[in-house]
Amino acid sequence: MPRKNSRHSSAIVVREEKTLDHRVALPLSERRLSFGDRWSYAPAPEASDYIKLRPRYKLFIGGKFVAPRSGKYFDSINPATEEKLAEIAEADAHDVDLAVKAARRAYNNTWSKIPGRERGKFLYRIARLIQEKSRELAVLESMDGGKTIRESRDIDLPLVAAHFFYYAGWADKLEYAFPGRTPRPLGVAGQIIPWNFPLLMAAWKLAPALACGNTCVLKPAETTSITAIHLAEIFQAAELPDGVVNIVTGAGETGKAIVDHPKIDKIAFTGSTSVGKLLTQAVVGTKKKLTLELGGKAANIIFEDAPIDQAVEGIISGIYFNQGHVCCAGSRLLVQEGIFPAVIRKLRDRIATLRVGNPLDKNTDIGAINSRMQLDKICELVDSGLKQGAELVQSRVRLPAKGYWYPPSFFTGVTASHRIAQEEIFGPVLSVMTFRTPEEAIERANNTPYGLSAGVWTDKGSKIFKIVNKLRAGVVWANTYNKFDPTSPFGGYKESGFGREGGLHGLLPYLAPN
Ligand code: NAD
Repeated sequence: MPRKNSRHSSAIVVREEKTLDHRVALPLSERRLSFGDRWSYAPAPEASDYIKLRPRYKLFIGGKFVAPRSGKYFDSINPATEEKLAEIAEADAHDVDLAVKAARRAYNNTWSKIPGRERGKFLYRIARLIQEKSRELAVLESMDGGKTIRESRDIDLPLVAAHFFYYAGWADKLEYAFPGRTPRPLGVAGQIIPWNFPLLMAAWKLAPALACGNTCVLKPAETTSITAIHLAEIFQAAELPDGVVNIVTGAGETGKAIVDHPKIDKIAFTGSTSVGKLLTQAVVGTKKKLTLELGGKAANIIFEDAPIDQAVEGIISGIYFNQGHVCCAGSRLLVQEGIFPAVIRKLRDRIATLRVGNPLDKNTDIGAINSRMQLDKICELVDSGLKQGAELVQSRVRLPAKGYWYPPSFFTGVTASHRIAQEEIFGPVLSVMTFRTPEEAIERANNTPYGLSAGVWTDKGSKIFKIVNKLRAGVVWANTYNKFDPTSPFGGYKESGFGREGGLHGLLPYLAPN
């Protein structure tokens, strides 16, 4: 396989070959001195010996942990070690029916009857308990999902608690949120979430639904169910009335049973666009309300007048954060032609310093890919990029022998018709393109089926306003990237879905329209 060493760092440029051995972990002797070698850190693993994983996780229905009717369980794997962490109950349509009935009883008997200020107190209590258990939950999240402890500890968990705090504040103020209207809950919400931010996606769904007076049946993704069940223990500790939140675990069939259940009033889904389309077809002709938070292919646009070092840091965190498992990841970089060589040089140097490895090590920048299936998907799309003629620059970081890993990478020579410019890779792989004028940048940025997020880097405030208003993206960051706050609405255009989560807008999907 012909590989050409870069002049600058331990990044390599891969040319000509049609496929790549993604699992090649280069021996240390083959590596040239890079920033990574000079700045060696001793391992700094987060303590995990106090974590008490149960051998089996049951369903949480009507306030109790119950075995699935089918008696079936599936394994949850630590993607960094490929070791089995626990067995997870597989809920079938019968279990989902029990969960919906429990949610309906709770809705009729308690949750829709108590005043908003009482619901708010429960949400505050849940937020406080999440804060108390935050470290343990962060470790569990990293073990089960592969994300780095720095992210789960410093980003995910604080935001999870913040969402419950924020919506606790709205629970008794709904009539002020929507003046002239009488806000009424919908009933039972079926909520289906993905694996990239397991607890955070649960918080995005549960907190506004509960604040508005709905009860919930939540399904976590099959590769990251463990923390949702630990969250159920927090609901018990908060003495949340039985059945207000029910958690059913399982894969697509379990999700389908929720979507098809006739007694569910609202479906809130976060996941892939392909499954989102199936859900849209499934609810047509029913009275179910639907919101969809789907995939993305965000453009990060960097102008010649941008502070380049700052922009490169933003680009790095925009794509390599959480292994690129981020719906709003800045996975396309649009660089104005005059600064292309400088940006590429800095990017190449910077990815050579990123540490890939043990998610529980506090120095790790890039953790494990969530599953074998996701790793295969990344490899397939990278191969397609090479076959279609793009040029790959990839860090030569050593990958651990066990587990699912992908080195930080970027493509140059990408054209708008390449699959890597149009499809969501959902891994640490960036597609770099150039533009000359602001108009061309806007056209290129909008040229995908998605419309979730975007980024603009420039010194000129007027340019920011001009560009932002023309980008078809639900969220646009300016001179920063991937910043989240519970007060700020999030959601997409086009094939990235519809409806907003977060902020005052996030209440609307859970209220009847009057
Ligand atoms: P996915 O669509 O495969 O799965 C998402 C959830 O849907 C899982 O819980 C899964 O079990 C369930 N599911 C699968 N088939 C189903 C069916 N037929 N009926 C009902 N439920 C079904 O997505 P994923 O691979 O878990 O997650 C990655 C995707 O999520 C990416 O496309 C990403 O962009 C998107 N995402 C979007 C946002 C957002 O806010 N827009 C946030 C996070 C992730």
